Amino acid sequence: MALREIRTFDDPVLRKKCRTVDGVDDRIRTILSDMADTMYSTASGGGLAANQVGILRRLVVIDVGEGLLKLINPEIVSTEGVQIVNEGCLSFPNIWGKVNRPKKVTVKYINENGETNCIDGEGLLAQCLCHEIDHLDGIVFVNKVIEFIKA
Ligand code: ZN
Repeated sequence: MALREIRTFDDPVLRKKCRTVDGVDDRIRTILSDMADTMYSTASGGGLAANQVGILRRLVVIDVGEGLLKLINPEIVSTEGVQIVNEGCLSFPNIWGKVNRPKKVTVKYINENGETNCIDGEGLLAQCLCHEIDHLDGIVFVNKVIEFIKA
């Protein structure tokens, strides 16, 4: 188990675009495993993107209570509907706001074995998939907040 430091607030790495992963190897699997350990070490995290731990690769881990997802090169292929959700981020501790997200998404990704898969997410999972994939493009949720919520 290895924890990585979560970058916060104005760290420039959070505004950088992550690079596509060309091949799945042990190095990638180790990063994903460290990212999962790091996410579970926090009280509130439902997801983590690689640039949040300073790695500019398109890697995401998510757990919204339905088991751990490790996604390589995730890509939104379709969306449906709209939901306004309350959102936070491990990189912006104690900041919360209302954000517009699709209600349903389909995401194409590569798994740890290098196989291409698709996942359908609804509600919280859809929100989380969109939030983490935004991170990979250097987009942070505070830029999408319609209204900040006072804690
Ligand atoms: Zn985040």
